[in-house]
Amino acid sequence: MLPAEFLSRFEMTCPSDLLADALASFAAKEAVAFRINRLKVSAPEPVLAELAGLGIECAPVAWAQAAGVWAYTCPQEQRETLTYSLAASVGTIYIQSLSSMLAPILLAPRPEEWVLDLAAAPGGKTILLAEMMGNQGKISAVEPVSARYHRLKANLARMGVSNTQTYLKDGRVVGSLKPDSFDRVMLDAPCSSESRFKTWDPASCEHWSPAKVSECAKKQKRLILSAFDALKPGGVLMYCTCSFAPEENELIVDHLLKKREGVHLLPLALDLPNLRPGLGEWKGKPLAAACLETRRVWPTGEMDGFYLALIGKA
Ligand code: SAM
Repeated sequence: MLPAEFLSRFEMTCPSDLLADALASFAAKEAVAFRINRLKVSAPEPVLAELAGLGIECAPVAWAQAAGVWAYTCPQEQRETLTYSLAASVGTIYIQSLSSMLAPILLAPRPEEWVLDLAAAPGGKTILLAEMMGNQGKISAVEPVSARYHRLKANLARMGVSNTQTYLKDGRVVGSLKPDSFDRVMLDAPCSSESRFKTWDPASCEHWSPAKVSECAKKQKRLILSAFDALKPGGVLMYCTCSFAPEENELIVDHLLKKREGVHLLPLALDLPNLRPGLGEWKGKPLAAACLETRRVWPTGEMDGFYLALIGKA
């Protein structure tokens, strides 16, 4: 069972036409998504043939492929075979949820740019950013938790990432250390991870409470100011979480709008039926109209829940 308070908050925010599928997704064992790594192979076919040889049935994901990302899904029962395949261990594939692929795709880094990934471990988004940049330009990847930092480094090495410098550092100080520096910033903020809740895995939600949401929001407010301060004028920031809590999403964007000049929300150009505008109000209090430009990814059988805000700096 999921926490009753979490469920009632979820039902207050989820659009009614998506609610039944979204609630069902908490009980589902959905398809496994992965990417073929363009930093390691020049065509997907040999990798797909290798996986087919293991009995793995791969289906391409159209919207990601259209963005140049070689993304596929396979049935949940094949997860273990995929996880322990040679392709996964040598880094020709990377297992990553489809929602997690969205944020780098929409941040759209260019090869010559300097990109900051402010909360980087275990590195799934950093690796996709590096792939999209063809290992050119520069990525600075920040992670303060030592064990996670070392996992980040190992993942970057395995996946063939060579344009990234890692830093064992608290992201909250980066904005004052490197003001107005980066062309693009990814802030995949530490959060209450509500979209990972599963009815068949009580451990997934055992640490959830409204106090946990508030604690995350406090840190996120400082991280988003740091991320925005680190951005060059004219640069673009992606703020995202895997939480449904308005306190961790629209209210964080609202906080940035109140605290800094020159913040504007950019359109998120992806047309998927489960991507809907951010909330315009919460608990009867209006939020900045710009929050409607942000996007909530509602969970389906195929995608986890996510929140995305693409923010420009004048
Ligand atoms: N972007 C990662 C990926 O795609 O693999 C996942 C990031 S995870 C949602 C959030 C990360 O933020 C965690 O690794 C956590 O340890 C880190 N974190 C926690 N506090 C932080 C802080 N003060 N500054 C920067 N990162 C922090």
